[in-house]
Amino acid sequence: MKERALILVVEDNPGNQLLTSSVLVRAGYEVELAESSVEALEHIAARLPDLILMDVQLPGMDGLSLTKALKSARETAGIPIVALTAHAMSGDREDALAAGCVGYIAKPIDTRTFGDEVRGFLLTANAH
Ligand code: MN
Repeated sequence: MKERALILVVEDNPGNQLLTSSVLVRAGYEVELAESSVEALEHIAARLPDLILMDVQLPGMDGLSLTKALKSARETAGIPIVALTAHAMSGDREDALAAGCVGYIAKPIDTRTFGDEVRGFLLTANAH
């Protein structure tokens, strides 16, 4: 039986951290949280996640700059990254795909569909 997938959530907003991680844990995933790009890199160096959920707006290095950095490094290029974008910022979505994200999920997340959306991205990634 396959181990539970590890999802790294890179998000600086405490409310979003709590909401996102609680839905993912309930959906059966293992979750690690990072509040910044620096913290995310520490998590990734310690253990490669199966998927990264990446807030676009982070203090310090923003989420899309981190995405580009991860996509350009051989060890991390294969990790699927899904951007978490604010509803109103539609330009973020094109930028997310251009940075190398496989897709995006709009915030605030819909707790009824979020687990399935994440599962869909994981299945697509594993099929490649
Ligand atoms: Mn943020």
